[in-house]
Amino acid sequence: MFRVLKQIFVAIPIGMFTVLKQAFRKPVTIQYPFEKEPMMPRYRGLHFLERYEDGSERCVCCGLCAASCPADAIYMEPAETEKGERYAKIYEINELRCIFCGFCEEACPEEAIFLGKEYEFADSERDEFIYTKEDLLVKWPREKPSPIKFIRKDRRVTWENLPEEQKQQ
Ligand code: SF4
Ligand code: SF4
Repeated sequence: MFRVLKQIFVAIPIGMFTVLKQAFRKPVTIQYPFEKEPMMPRYRGLHFLERYEDGSERCVCCGLCAASCPADAIYMEPAETEKGERYAKIYEINELRCIFCGFCEEACPEEAIFLGKEYEFADSERDEFIYTKEDLLVKWPREKPSPIKFIRKDRRVTWENLPEEQKQQ
């Protein structure tokens, strides 16, 4: 008898109070995909390849990102322009293999590859997860300023500042 009375006069009012308290609180859920929370600063999402401010590609196809990749997710083939500037003719990342560790970003001496905040790249076809250079390279002209604070903004060596004797080689 005492247990029943305790439930009616103590447990049930406490339960009702808890429900009412929650009913007037601001919801913590968001209406994804119509509402999106900004990702944490250290979040590592889909890769992108950066450019210099003159639009030229930063990547010189040195292979350090591929060498540092523990998942063997990066493939590239180098080529040279008519001026002898090296670039990646083919640059691919298999995002299915990638574990988003960020080692490629750390290893890159040219500040060319970064992991961005993009996470909406789910697909039903495996082939769609092979991202080519055309997919990864930032659009030019830029649609918005780069989020990266570059340590080095200019190319180390260009055809214009190359010594004459090296141009002859
Ligand atoms: S984030 Fe890690 S696993 Fe993914 S491509 Fe870069 S080095 Fe490889
Ligand atoms: S992204 Fe960077 S590390 Fe990778 S090949 Fe290009 S320059 Fe080298």
